[in-house]
Amino acid sequence: MAHNVSRRSFFKTSFMGAVAVAVASAAAAKETFNPLTAEAAEIVAPIKETSEFPYTVDAKYQRLPGNKLLYQRVFDPEENKSPLKFKHDDVSKITGKKDTGKELPRINAETLGIKGRDATLTETGGIFFSHHDGTVLPLRKDELGWRELEVALDVAAWSVEYKFNGFTAPGSGPGGVIAHYPFNPVTNESGTEPVVIQGMYSWDNSKVVERRGQGRQWKFDSGEEASRIVKKAARFLGADLVGIAPYDDRWTYSTWSRPNLKPFKLPDGSGRTEYFPTDPYKFMKGEVETFGQTVFDADWEKYAGFKPKSVIAMVFEMDYEAYRTAPSILHSAAPGKSYSNMGEVAFKVANFLREIGYYAIPSGNDTGMSIPIAIQAGLGEAGRAGQLITQKYGPRLRIAKVYTDLELVPDKPRSFGVREFCRLCMKCADACPSQAISHEKEARVLQPEDCGPSENPYTEKWHVDSHRCLSFFAYNGGDCGNCISVCSWNKIDQWQHDVARIATQIPLVQDAARKFDEWFGYNGPVNPEERIESGYVANMVKDFWKDTEPTK
Ligand code: SF4
Ligand code: SF4
Repeated sequence: MAHNVSRRSFFKTSFMGAVAVAVASAAAAKETFNPLTAEAAEIVAPIKETSEFPYTVDAKYQRLPGNKLLYQRVFDPEENKSPLKFKHDDVSKITGKKDTGKELPRINAETLGIKGRDATLTETGGIFFSHHDGTVLPLRKDELGWRELEVALDVAAWSVEYKFNGFTAPGSGPGGVIAHYPFNPVTNESGTEPVVIQGMYSWDNSKVVERRGQGRQWKFDSGEEASRIVKKAARFLGADLVGIAPYDDRWTYSTWSRPNLKPFKLPDGSGRTEYFPTDPYKFMKGEVETFGQTVFDADWEKYAGFKPKSVIAMVFEMDYEAYRTAPSILHSAAPGKSYSNMGEVAFKVANFLREIGYYAIPSGNDTGMSIPIAIQAGLGEAGRAGQLITQKYGPRLRIAKVYTDLELVPDKPRSFGVREFCRLCMKCADACPSQAISHEKEARVLQPEDCGPSENPYTEKWHVDSHRCLSFFAYNGGDCGNCISVCSWNKIDQWQHDVARIATQIPLVQDAARKFDEWFGYNGPVNPEERIESGYVANMVKDFWKDTEPTK
């Protein structure tokens, strides 16, 4: 006799059955969203919302100074006096594996022509930046994925971020863009002296003062209506995902800072001048000299003219095809493209708010920490590798935000099983060439002794050694991206994410869930050497350049 059991109650009574059905149907529909797996995930692993920030923040927590962020410290002359140190020189006790990252700083130093000692943070950062602006070709320049062709795509992808968004490396706060070749609108001649203008992350709120003076501040019927309209505008203007967080002082850097620049005459006989944060003439001789940083108190009233009430957090997807080529420099074009887009969209969203009479500060990585803001805005969870993981794109994304004095109704933090999955998965930690990502099973409240100078203690997470990561970037050419590329949540299609969600509820299959990707041929080898030596990266680079999308 046939039992009249609905699919819903079947799922409720059989977790294993749910997984079996989900996997079978997912396998049958490899490239598509699958409603059956989505329904199974909703029943077996329903999304949970919390009203508070979902991870422990100890009472001893203090805001991180913006000038202590890794990419800001590069410009601190003190950081150029001694070799870059890892938090743990030997991580084999944690990983049980060979410590492949140990020799990296010496390799970095040799790319600068330095023999016999390890590189400083400044030298390591200098090499990293010079790969991204095409000044120095990577050591691996003869390998597919690191050739001058791929370097050119990387430089092009980053060019808007570097040339137009503003010098907004993390923590820079109010800043500007240097127009190196301005023209005189009266004579139509190009000038030889640079001028500083506002970039995309412009702090210019003079329009708001004007609008309010004209009595033209738009009044919404309710906070709910304001939130809906602002989200619609942000999506229309180019954000892939949008959430609203309440303004929370904890995530604003305690200081803002930016590197000092000096003018240098170009050696091309043009008589033109450019500003640089490092001495370009010394750099060409293998020496890195920086000019320090200017540090500001993080004073909203003084620099922005208002105290924020809400933060609009926006997610920008990074290209899947490019990310499959990680750790090639071709993959680095994907974050470059998203960083470049972030500035444009954040600028537009800020200008929408300014037009209707509300203060707005568009922000990339500067001013405050984007990941906890995005978590508060309900966009995703924090994974093992320290990245935001969303349901739609996993960690394959970048985040921009807009601070405003418009009162919006915040979203709630949401959990869909990432933290539980990360406890057992560890794929990113296994794929990390510099062994920077902790293999500890549980996330925990990190103590000062666990953290380097750019890593904030007293919050609950897994440790990631940013010095090891940057060292590999500099050695590798471009950056790396293995941790994002191999993550089970990063694929374009939805069904694998739903299977992963279901698996978080079933300890026996969690390990198998990690292997689904490998069974279905996604993401390539996890072992970092094998990714390259097996030819996987080279094949993905060839695939990338094949024209698979219509161009007309
Ligand atoms: S990008 Fe990720 S995988 Fe690569 S070195 Fe850094 S932490 Fe490791
Ligand atoms: S690879 Fe695995 S452990 Fe790492 S962030 Fe993704 S799900 Fe978590």
